[in-house]
Amino acid sequence: MKIVMLGAPGAGKGTQAKMIADQYSIPHISTGDIFRANIKEGTELGKEAKSYMDKGQLVPDELTVKILLDRVAKEDCKNGYVLDGFPRTIPQAEVLEDALTKLNDKIDYAINVEVPDENIVRRMSGRRACLSCGATYHIVHIPPKAEGVCDRCGKDLVLRDDDKEETVQKRLNVYHEQTQPLIDFYEKKGVLKEVDGTVDMKDVFAAITRILG
Ligand code: ADP
Ligand code: ADP
Ligand code: ZN
Repeated sequence: MKIVMLGAPGAGKGTQAKMIADQYSIPHISTGDIFRANIKEGTELGKEAKSYMDKGQLVPDELTVKILLDRVAKEDCKNGYVLDGFPRTIPQAEVLEDALTKLNDKIDYAINVEVPDENIVRRMSGRRACLSCGATYHIVHIPPKAEGVCDRCGKDLVLRDDDKEETVQKRLNVYHEQTQPLIDFYEKKGVLKEVDGTVDMKDVFAAITRILG
């Protein structure tokens, strides 16, 4: 099963993608997590990506597409995967589609997690992220067991540099301009599914499992 998660930054794509990955035993692939891991390790890719991420802009397609295609070519992706944060532009979606078509394959579901912009800004200021394992929390809605510490791996949680309010607003603008057109793209392919992302995370997940079966 090959799944794409769509939705604004902070809509809950990552939260749901991790639950899908566990339930269906497929890898969760987040381009944002891959970039943050590279930033942490101080690689050239990380340095280049950070210059865009800190401004709330997208990392250029050439760079992003290469990383994603390398990742989905790995052995663990044979039975499918859930993509979180990719594609984010029409050209990215087209490259992915071309690569899959060559393998006689396709995306089965594009799940759009719908959350209005007003809710997003509130959510992001409460997001706390573990840069070691990629887990995400919310100080009010989804708190870790011990404040500031990751439940999964015990490392410190941080407020991401790009989750500050000014940058969140820029990322929302970028989302509406460059990423929202993907809803139409996948609708035309007949694989678009929409879920209400404003309800409790368990209820969002229940709606998704009804779709995936
Ligand atoms: P969020 O989960 O809040 O939407 P991500 O972790 O997916 O954030 O992405 C953080 C940043 O990483 C983005 O703002 C962008 O700069 C960069 N990024 C991640 N995925 C992509 C992508 N597919 N194309 C371009 N840039 C990306
Ligand atoms: P995305 O990957 O789309 O950027 P995340 O999954 O990181 O979004 O979620 C953004 C923030 O909102 C996080 O702090 C997360 O814990 C929180 N969150 C996720 N789903 C819900 C929900 N259904 N209700 C309230 N908060 C949520
Ligand atoms: Zn962790």
